[in-house]
Amino acid sequence: MRARFYSQGEDHYKLDPDLKAILHTFAPGLPQEELSAFGKLVGEEVLEVAHHVDQDAPPRLQMHDLDGNRIDRALLSPAQKTLLEKLRPMIRPAYEGRGWPLHYAFGYLLADGGLYCILTITHQVAYALHKYAPEHEGVKRDLLYGPAFGATWMTEIQGGSDLGANRTVARREGNAYRLYQGDKYFASGAGLADYAIVTARPEGAPAGPKGLGLFLLPREVEGRLNFTVRRFKEKLATRAVPSGEVELEGSLAYPIGRLEEGIYYTLENLTVSRLANAAAAMGIAKKAHLEALFRVRRRTAFGKTLLQHDLIQHDLLEMRLRQVGGTALAFLAIQAFDQAWEERPPYSEGYHLARLLSHLAKGRTAEHASAITALAMELFGGLGFLEEYGVARWHREALITPIWEGPANIQALDMLEAILKKRAHEPLLAMLGESPRAQAEAHKILKKLQEEGPWYAKEALRALADVVTVYALEKVAAEPFPELAELYARRFLKGETLPPSAQRPELYDPWSSLS
Ligand SMILES: Cc1cc2nc3c(=O)[nH]c(=O)nc-3n(C[C@H](O)[C@H](O)[C@H](O)COP(=O)(O)OP(=O)(O)OC[C@H]3O[C@@H](n4cnc5c(N)ncnc54)[C@H](O)[C@@H]3O)c2cc1C
Repeated sequence: MRARFYSQGEDHYKLDPDLKAILHTFAPGLPQEELSAFGKLVGEEVLEVAHHVDQDAPPRLQMHDLDGNRIDRALLSPAQKTLLEKLRPMIRPAYEGRGWPLHYAFGYLLADGGLYCILTITHQVAYALHKYAPEHEGVKRDLLYGPAFGATWMTEIQGGSDLGANRTVARREGNAYRLYQGDKYFASGAGLADYAIVTARPEGAPAGPKGLGLFLLPREVEGRLNFTVRRFKEKLATRAVPSGEVELEGSLAYPIGRLEEGIYYTLENLTVSRLANAAAAMGIAKKAHLEALFRVRRRTAFGKTLLQHDLIQHDLLEMRLRQVGGTALAFLAIQAFDQAWEERPPYSEGYHLARLLSHLAKGRTAEHASAITALAMELFGGLGFLEEYGVARWHREALITPIWEGPANIQALDMLEAILKKRAHEPLLAMLGESPRAQAEAHKILKKLQEEGPWYAKEALRALADVVTVYALEKVAAEPFPELAELYARRFLKGETLPPSAQRPELYDPWSSLS
């Protein structure tokens, strides 16, 4: 049934040979049949349920039961509940010794901000427990294998980027703590999560981010609600995940690891979700790109298909360059994280490199996804603006990717910190050594960053991301990636126009089997 999406019913992994080539380079040996089965689930069920939840059945907050007790439960559509359990296995690979790239490849294919958010925040709790609180092994199991869901609540009303401004206080009570004055203002998973990890400042701890501890907060303690949900937010997109406002007052919480290292664990957790953001951004963009590819071969204007028009071919090449560039950058960053994720503070050079790459990938993929999905809408003409079809929603979904997990300015400042305090540019330059052109460009950007500091940091984030993207694309051996690397460099590093010699179907439209 292709009434809403042309790609309905298709295997979304099979439809994406560029993804396959990129995965083959940065994560060789991934199980192809599993990816294809997941691609089919996406084409058959995810597209339909995600659209339905977005348009007709977003989660609702039920505050009381029939007897008037506060329950603060998210009511999900039964279709969403069933689908979430089918998707849950995608969060397990890293904990089953199968690595992170497989998880993020699933996240890319899933390409839904709301559903993927629920699964990401669930396994972020599992991640924190796995690394720093093994005494909660049972909770970790329930998160990975069901039935529990997790959440990560850091942002408070007075600040998201400025985590150090957190006002939640943690007061010791035996082996546990009670949290007070907590106003977790953007709490995704509210009403759904059985366990959240939250930042709070233990009494007596210093001000600022370094004084924050990380805690495990159960939804219920001895059958009673441990915190309340004030309301759910009305959102532009990501509607499948309930995002609410959570109040903590006397809420029981268990410390995770060493409280004085809480900010490090929080930042590690952010790396996990920033990479998810990067993979999802490019996955969402791909959905819109695919729809556009189907559309341009079916719609005619001025006596020929849209695909036959020069300017459409130019648009498609622009989309493909952004698409392959962002995807290669994301999976290069994921590969680096996969090699370093088991480290604990103080971290090695390899970990700092992974963190630096995560900032580049998070920042740049969000820009690519926003641009690709907007162009896909435009290529649909008036239909692109209608909520009835997929492309409008994918653009709305793409627009969250620059905001949550830290907007671009924050990625830029975190990148600067990783360079100045952790010297993360040194392993980056060493990595780029394989590509003299990329290394020379990176040197120039870093020199300017040193001279101009934060004023230039956001541009440096984009420029360095593009340098690393060219490096990543050069590593993909499959044709025509060497040429795509050249074109990406020309278009985004040098800011030049695309040459007429690039007006070839194998570059702008190699999807000849689509109909
Ligand atoms: C749908 C949705 C779900 C969310 N879910 C969660 C969740 O589950 N858990 C959670 O903890 N948070 C969540 N958030 C919050 C999200 O992470 C924050 O909104 C985000 O980190 C930005 O924080 P803020 O909104 O406080 O913006 P601010 O921190 O006020 O930033 C506003 C702008 O100022 C810029 N800025 C801030 N500081 C600086 C600086 N020093 N220099 C230059 N520019 C700066 C930022 O880049 C941004 O563009 C969610 C948000 C949304 C929209």
